[in-house]
Formats: sequence, structure tokens, C-alpha cells
Amino acid sequence: MTMSKKPAVAYFCMEYGVSAELPIYSGGLGVLAGDTMKSAGDRGLPLVGIGVFWDEGYTQQVIGGEGHPEDVFEPAPREALEPLDVSGVEVTVLGKRIPLRAHKVTRYVSAPLYLLEPAEADDRWITKRLYGGDDEARLAQEIVLGVGGVRLLRALGEDVSRYHFNEGHAVFAGLELLRAALAEGQDVDSALSSVRDQVVFTTHTPVAAGNETHDLGLMAKVGADVGLDRELLERIGGSPFSMTVAGLRLSRRANAVAKLHGETAARMWEHVTDGAPIIAITNGVHAPTWQDERVREAMRDEDPEARRDRLWRAHQSMKAELIEAIRDRCGVELSTKRLLVGFARRATAYKRADLIFEQPERLEPLFRDGVLQLVFAGKAHPKDHAGKALVARLVEASKRWPSSVVFLENYGMELGALLTRGCDVWLNNPRRPMEASGTSGMKAAMNGCLNASILDGWWPEGCVHGETGWQIGDASGDALAGNVEEQDARDREALYETMSKEVVATYEESRSRWVQMMENSIRMSEWQFSSDRMVEDYFEKLYGAD
Ligand SMILES: *Cc1c(COP(=O)(O)O)cnc(C)c1O
Repeated sequence: MTMSKKPAVAYFCMEYGVSAELPIYSGGLGVLAGDTMKSAGDRGLPLVGIGVFWDEGYTQQVIGGEGHPEDVFEPAPREALEPLDVSGVEVTVLGKRIPLRAHKVTRYVSAPLYLLEPAEADDRWITKRLYGGDDEARLAQEIVLGVGGVRLLRALGEDVSRYHFNEGHAVFAGLELLRAALAEGQDVDSALSSVRDQVVFTTHTPVAAGNETHDLGLMAKVGADVGLDRELLERIGGSPFSMTVAGLRLSRRANAVAKLHGETAARMWEHVTDGAPIIAITNGVHAPTWQDERVREAMRDEDPEARRDRLWRAHQSMKAELIEAIRDRCGVELSTKRLLVGFARRATAYKRADLIFEQPERLEPLFRDGVLQLVFAGKAHPKDHAGKALVARLVEASKRWPSSVVFLENYGMELGALLTRGCDVWLNNPRRPMEASGTSGMKAAMNGCLNASILDGWWPEGCVHGETGWQIGDASGDALAGNVEEQDARDREALYETMSKEVVATYEESRSRWVQMMENSIRMSEWQFSSDRMVEDYFEKLYGAD
């Protein structure tokens, strides 16, 4: 036991990506939560995680015969769970009492991570699938996470002084704290201010439509035991009830997930925050999970020439392993000699995975000369039809250029680790400023896989053009906000220019330059974009007293 003045924190998130073997995450948000738990555990910081056990996890998306993504659901394995000995934790959903049980995750993370689910099989429709079901189900899920989570902590006797809501999904925890304060006889204003003293909030999506809202009538119907009247709910979250607005209003401090996102979020929520700053704490990734041991070892060599030699050989091994995995998965034999560019992320419109295919005549020369190979992966949300059409277009491209383009199905942490280790270059071309942070590029950077990216999310903080990676275009994109076509055309042009004149040129002309850049990339990212640095920042800037 250390005597620490650090506040005890309960961290709430809808999804946790701690391992490919525990598939209760969908993407970046969950991986961030998993990495947060891992770093808190590694550093002995007082943080417990609260989440939900999703019976069938998230979609395992495969490509069907027609080249379209198809969703497959399977029961999530329970080997890494141990029952927590608590009773009496329950919530009310649609007027029915739902007793809850909780599990502790016994592998992958050393900080305590507790997952809730209904105790009765009949009630488990609520937690069947991550982000599954209709609005009613979503509210029920969020009641289990938020209300259930606070009640679980109470039942466990956990002494919590900060509640961290990672995204608006956890806002019901704030409503439960408020209900409890009111039940103790506090008046509304002092109850609100006592809740605010304890809560911090991380906002993620700078896309307005990505911020969840609920109809107040439906909220009252599903969550009668939230115990707050409509007027108070409306005062907190507006009507319809916005989870992000509520998160901001219920918290003592809020953060955005990169510096640029901090500026975007401050503008976006000015009308809610009343000038209170949304601070920027840039995301990070858990190096022991995402950085290959061979890279870490190579970097320890103090002799510069030997170090670069070892680094290059480590990289070549990882690239060969990736190419082998690609052959096993889809029968395509890529070349270890040709440049391998990776792009793997959630398939959604603003990320523009297919931007590079829009002018084939600009791309084909790079394929014909036998230089460039592209590997893609990404799932679309089961209900995101535009995202699915995007995946289908990527699959089409892989059929059109079979020896140069590959699409890997069922993107998850396992593929993420393989790709960010084994690719030469990590491509990222979102519509600035819609990428709040983006953490896959950090994983790549730590392995010496060089980022070529639009200056969005974390990249303006990591990019020294031509040294740590490459920027695509410049920082003037925001000026075009609203003129999507013009922005796409300009970024597409910049993408082809950067790819051919800088990335491919450097790859072909100078091995030593390339390895130097790999080394720069690793050094730039190892601490600055690690979740160790991030959790230290959380404790200092977000949870700390004042
Ligand atoms: C790291 C990671 C992400 C997040 O990466 P982005 O760059 O934000 O897209 C998403 N999914 C998986 C499986 C990851 O490992």
C-alpha cells in the first residue's frame, strides 16, 4: 500500500478492448479504454474500470460471396471472467426490476475491471450485443452501465472520489449520483454541484450526428427509476436529451482527445460550457501491447549503426510475418520488397478509405512499376449502410488489382497489431477536423511504420514532415468546412503528390534515410503517444484537486 494523495477513480466505458480474445469492443473507444486500464495497472494508479459484458460481443464481419460485408455474431468467451461476490445490485428497466451480476476480468489487465450484466438470462436481451438493439435497448444498456455501475461500486464499498465518463454513454452514472444526492435531502443546486465535483468527462466525436440523443419521453418510460423529473433532465441534457451536453454539464472538467480536437470541441460546445475550457489530453496507446518486443530491443542498442541495422531487420521480419498472414487469410502473395502501405480503421464515410482509388490513372503507375502495395481492413457498423458500401468498394479494388491491393475481413485487435507492426507506411486521410484523435497511427509510429497522414487528430502533434513521417496537404482544411467536394478534391491531389514524390521516392532512393525516419518516429511516439503519459495527464490535469 502506498500512501498516495491521488484520488480514487472509477472509469466508465461502454466497451473495453483489452485483448482480441475478449471481443467486447468495437474499435478505437474500446481500445483506448483497454489501454487506459493497462497503463493504470502498470503504474499502480488507483483506477477501477466499469463496463458491460456483451453476450455476443460485437460483429465479426466477413466478406460474403458477393463481396459485401456480412455480420456474424457468436457468444463471447467467458474464460477471462471471474464472478464478483456482490448481491443486491439492481436497476429498473421498463418498470421491471433487473438484478445485476458482475464479473472481474482476470487476464490482460492488472487494474480492476468489472463488467456488469443482468443476472437472469431472460433479461440479457439488454446486453446481447454492443451497440445492438433499438433506442429502448440502448437506454437500457446505458442504465445498466451507469446506474448499475454506481450501485456496484457502492455495494463493493469502493471509496471513489472521481467518476470518469469516457464518452456520453456513461451519463446515467451522473444521474444516479444526482438522484442519490437529492434523496439525501440536498436541494437541486447543491446536489448538482456535488455531482459536478466528482465527475470528469471525455468527449470524443466532433461529428454532430455522432453525439447521441434520447427522447425525454422514452427516457422516462425506460428509466423511471432514474428518479429525476423531466424538467431537471431537460436542464441537464436539453430536449432531446444529449448525452454529450449532459456529460459536459455534469462534470467539473472535460477533455478532448487531441489538441486540434480541443479547439474543435471548444467551438462545438461553446453554448453549453459557458466558456469553461475543454482541455486537451491527447490519447495514447499501451506500448507493451502495441510495440513489438524486437523493435524495443533494437532501440536499446547504443551503437547507432548496429541499432539501425537491427531495427531494419526487426521491421523486415514483422513485414514478412504480415505478408504470411495475408497469404493465409486470403491467398494473395504480396512481396516483401515492394512498399507496403496499410489502412485499417472503422469503415465510415469521413475516413475516406477509398480516396486513393478515385483517380486510378494516378495510382496505376505506382502499381505497374511494382512499387506500391495496399492492404486494407475495417468493419462497418452493422447498421451503417454507407460504411458497408465503402467496404464493398475496397473489396472491388482488391479484385481489380489483385497483386497490389488486399482487403482483410474482420478487423480487430489481432489484425490491428499485425498491420501496425508489419506495414512500411500507415495511411490516414480523414476529412479534417473530423478525426478526433486516431490511435492506430500511434501504434504504427511506435513500431517504425511511418505515418503518411492528413494533419488531423493527433498527427499535427507528432508530424515533422520528412522526419517522423509525412503530412498530406496542409492545415488549411477547416476553411473548407462544409464544402466537402472541394476538400476531397484538394486532399486527393495532395495524397497522390505525397505518395509518389515523397513516400515512394524515399522508399526507392534511400534505405538509410528511411531507417532514420523509422527511428525518429519511434522516439517521437514512445512516451508522448503512450497511454502511460496519458493516464499521468489524467491524474494531473483531469482528476487532480482544484
Ligand atoms: C487502435 C485500434 C483502433 C483505433 O484506431 P483509429 O486510428 O482511431 O481508427 C480501432 N480498432 C482497432 C481494432 C484498433 O486496434
